[in-house]
Amino acid sequence: KLYNQVQDLKGNIRVYCRVRPFLTGQSSIMSTVDHIDDGKITIITPSKYGKEGRKSFNFNKVFGPSATQEEVFSDMQPLIRSVLDGYNVCIFAYGQTGSGKTYTMSGPKILTEESFGVNYRALNDLFHISKQRKDMFCYEIAVQMIEIYNEQVRDLLTNDGPQKRLDIHNSSQKGLAVPDASLVHVASTEEVIELMSIGQRNRAVSATAMNDRSSRSHSCVTIHVQGRDLTSGVVLRGCMHLVDLAGSERVNKSEAKGDRLKEAQHINKSLSALGDVISALAQKSSHVPYRNSKLTQLLQDSLGGQAKTLMFVHISPEEDAISETISTLKFAERVA
Ligand code: ADP
Ligand code: MG
Repeated sequence: KLYNQVQDLKGNIRVYCRVRPFLTGQSSIMSTVDHIDDGKITIITPSKYGKEGRKSFNFNKVFGPSATQEEVFSDMQPLIRSVLDGYNVCIFAYGQTGSGKTYTMSGPKILTEESFGVNYRALNDLFHISKQRKDMFCYEIAVQMIEIYNEQVRDLLTNDGPQKRLDIHNSSQKGLAVPDASLVHVASTEEVIELMSIGQRNRAVSATAMNDRSSRSHSCVTIHVQGRDLTSGVVLRGCMHLVDLAGSERVNKSEAKGDRLKEAQHINKSLSALGDVISALAQKSSHVPYRNSKLTQLLQDSLGGQAKTLMFVHISPEEDAISETISTLKFAERVA
């Protein structure tokens, strides 16, 4: 009995890994990924990382470079469906800039039906199931989209005052961690696509002004689901946070100065705060350090307890990315 409970708790945190394919024009470069075997990935390390030159890491699942968006999503589907049963879910895309985080969560710049990312597929799935259950439940689905940059929270679904800073309130009256961020009710995939493009555009606006800021901010799409049981009148609430994290690459301290250094310090601090929270939860530690970053404060009610977490790490296959690849895999190993 106890063993089962422990298994259940551990089962609330899952860690996946995805390897990006080589991009066009790169086909002759050697990959640092030696082989993938279901949940195990073996990489080729330069000699300074170990005599054998090979190192393996274990995850709940590893997706190789040829995995499709559909394959990746189908493994996450049970997690997404549990939101309709009243669970809170967090999905994080972690990895260095260029490793495929945004591709997994949103898709490529030019979207086709096959290339839709997790965000669209999750919402689509939620619409689909809520329609199937319409004789038993009445569901409402609403979305918020925010960005955390330099430990400041900004609404991505507004067109006025993009620089306005928002506050985080845990256990606020409305049950929203960021009550002042736009909350948009959605009922169809078309509405979602429209909404996501507004969000992407708002991220892009700051990117041109500040030189690809999107890789140095965390973006979070939050889907709020409320379901009323038509016979009993009982209302279930669940929410899902889909987080495209800032690039995890280490910034060379001797090169970064001023704003760039400040950004790097904020990213470093918030990613390690996230790692600390997840590893405290995985070890069932009595103290979980939520207060150390805006990101962990924002997600406090959705990390731990009954909530389910998926840490999805991304790696680039190129040889010159090897030290970031190793540090990403080590981060993932720490939270697994
Ligand atoms: P990140 O968000 O981690 O910085 P991106 O998602 O922007 O990385 O990916 C970098 C580039 O690689 C983009 O051009 C993207 O379309 C491409 N890419 C990433 N992952 C894949 C994949 N699985 N299949 C095909 N192209 C990919
Ligand atoms: Mg990105």
